Amino acid sequence: MFRHPFSLVTAGRIFVAASVTYVVAAALFSFSFMREIENDARFTRENQIPKILAQNANAVKVEKLASLVHSAYLARDARLERQVQLELRVLSQTFTLDNDKVLIDGAKAIADDVKRITSLRAAERGGAAVGAGGDTAEQLRTTYNEAIRKARQLADYLVNDSAFVADNVSNKIEANANRITNFWMAILAVPVLGSLLIFWMFRTHVAGPINATIDRLTAIGTETFSGAAPPAPLFVELRMISTAVETYGEVSAKLSQTNSVLRALSVEDALTGIGNRRSFDAMLDAEFGSARSREAGLAVLIIDLDHFKRINDEYGHQSGDACLQATGRILRSHCEGAACHAARYGGEEFSVLLPNMSVAEAVAFAEKLRVAIATAQVARGEGRRPIRMTASIGVASTEETTFASPGALLDAADAALYRAKHRGRNNVQFHSEGDAQPLETRRHA
Ligand code: GH3
Ligand code: MG
Ligand code: MG
Repeated sequence: MFRHPFSLVTAGRIFVAASVTYVVAAALFSFSFMREIENDARFTRENQIPKILAQNANAVKVEKLASLVHSAYLARDARLERQVQLELRVLSQTFTLDNDKVLIDGAKAIADDVKRITSLRAAERGGAAVGAGGDTAEQLRTTYNEAIRKARQLADYLVNDSAFVADNVSNKIEANANRITNFWMAILAVPVLGSLLIFWMFRTHVAGPINATIDRLTAIGTETFSGAAPPAPLFVELRMISTAVETYGEVSAKLSQTNSVLRALSVEDALTGIGNRRSFDAMLDAEFGSARSREAGLAVLIIDLDHFKRINDEYGHQSGDACLQATGRILRSHCEGAACHAARYGGEEFSVLLPNMSVAEAVAFAEKLRVAIATAQVARGEGRRPIRMTASIGVASTEETTFASPGALLDAADAALYRAKHRGRNNVQFHSEGDAQPLETRRHA
């Protein structure tokens, strides 16, 4: 959806600016909207309602007019007729104030009819015939009916007019009520939709990338960092954090690889691939403590290749190396599957640790190793006689003697080896109390 990154600060500014603009616009708009509604209400109060009230009052007056017509028709007395006419005139005058032509003309026509009724009555009293027809009573009735009809017509007109105005007022009120409802729904819909948009933005472009970065950091911590980087976050700040974490992850992965190589190198002998002296010493310390607490036997073998100097001298240093590698392979293959740890202790000297082994088993194991070394043939290339070699092996075990330290156990194996050399080499000797102490102890445990 968004191609180019932008900063969280910019997003914050846009949000604040949009919110302020919206609030100001909504306030201005609602102000003018409410003014419009207020004007409508004022117009209704000042014009429409008074008009309805005036028409109602006029309807009462028209009723009075009709009753005066009736009085004039029934009067039969000149004085009473005059009084009716006077009242009629006063009443008609009040209509002129309303400035309603229909009302003024109607009232005037009724007044004329009453005047005619009065003059017909006067003629009746004088005994003279009025009009060409001469039937005064008939003319009187016709004029009276005519006046009453006009009064009714006026009353109908007033009722209709006031109903029309009232209808207008109620329509206007209803329309305004609808407009107010719609206006507030529109005003409230914007913040609701805005909140949904902000929630979506936060979830997709803030929380999502933060969680992805946390996952990557966790992977770095547990050394499982691999695979493609998660998609670049939209916000610049999160993008920078994500990029930094990716770089850190790559460096950390490389370091971890280098570390595992170094770790392997620190415990492995580079030439033969079996354990080195450091790993053997560590293993010996651990197994010595374990054997002592479990009161189990722990045997150590020191294997020294016989007259190795001569092999070097006779076949060269590289052939000597090949012999050392062959010895390493023999030790590894014999140790495979057994609880044993083989190492190149130094030069042409090897050591084997045999936990949980009795003296007899350890001596038998050493004998097997000696035979394997003695029967091995180290190839030297096409047409050349393979090299043969032998080894002397010294064995010591905690089962026979109580040793004060791992170094003492190792020295005992060394003393047995010394005896094996003296006995003509290519043999296995088990340490006994009578063995001479080596001139130099191997370790100072
Ligand atoms: P012995 O039977 O008394 O053990 O005689 P030796 O010749 O084996 O004993 P010595 O300690 O005199 O000689 C050990 C030789 O091993 C000396 C050294 O040149 C050789 N050597 C030590 N490390 C290496 C190595 O890594 N490669 C090769 N080719 N020779 C080595
Ligand atoms: Mg040696
Ligand atoms: Mg040797």
